[in-house]
Amino acid sequence: MPWADYHVHSEYSFDSTAELELLCDAARAKGVREFCLTEHIDPGHPDCDQPPDFDAWLRDIARCRAEYPDLCIRTGLEIGDNAARRAQIVQTLDALALDFRLLSLHLVDGLDPYDPAFYEGRTQEQAYRRYVEVKLESVLHFPDYDAVAHLGYCGKFAPYPPALRPLRWRHAPDHIDMLLRHLAQNGKALEINTSGLKETDSPIPGWDILRRFAELGGEFVTLASDAHAPEYLAYRFEDARRIAISAGLKWGVTFERRTPHPYRLEE
Ligand SMILES: [Zn+2]
Ligand SMILES: [Zn+2]
Repeated sequence: MPWADYHVHSEYSFDSTAELELLCDAARAKGVREFCLTEHIDPGHPDCDQPPDFDAWLRDIARCRAEYPDLCIRTGLEIGDNAARRAQIVQTLDALALDFRLLSLHLVDGLDPYDPAFYEGRTQEQAYRRYVEVKLESVLHFPDYDAVAHLGYCGKFAPYPPALRPLRWRHAPDHIDMLLRHLAQNGKALEINTSGLKETDSPIPGWDILRRFAELGGEFVTLASDAHAPEYLAYRFEDARRIAISAGLKWGVTFERRTPHPYRLEE
């Protein structure tokens, strides 16, 4: 299957050193026909409040589009939502003619869940419920986006054994249902982030939540490696595709100037 990877960071993200050309070479080598750069913007984040140099980014993309005419390189941003800074975020987004807006969340009550302090003084249940509450508020109220990134990010770096780390539907069934129903009713896509498969048996989100999305009428998913280095482009996409299909999901989706182009996951 010619893959479309809808979550990729290049050196224009503060936490990646991947040159765009090397990502393009990896795309060719791995049968990735299309990928979307989703550089970070995280206003108010204690460690990474540094946006990309957008002019240099767009120039570099134009150069690589000319150099690799067989590849489709899309422009997107991974929006680290922060309710107090939404006006600023929207201004940044509106100033760019992006293909794709990926709604993400890395801050819960001022802490990134990769910080062990997020888990101090609370049970896993309490920590995960709080993450889902804030994520729900973001999904319901962020004004305009195409897909939701790594639902279950709290589990990625949580201080529990790998088997216990993934967010499960049973951790917050009512809130997760509300969130998924909102996506389904508004035709938004849910990301299947395969970076979770590096350390756990589950993409982010896992099968139970993907299954629930399908049950609630959700249709569209994006396949997403969250690669910060060329070797992780389209990481375990065949597994993600199988998991999606077994959960009852039939459609992947790509975006061109914010217009969705669905494609069948099953050939
Ligand atoms: Zn992220
Ligand atoms: Zn990311």
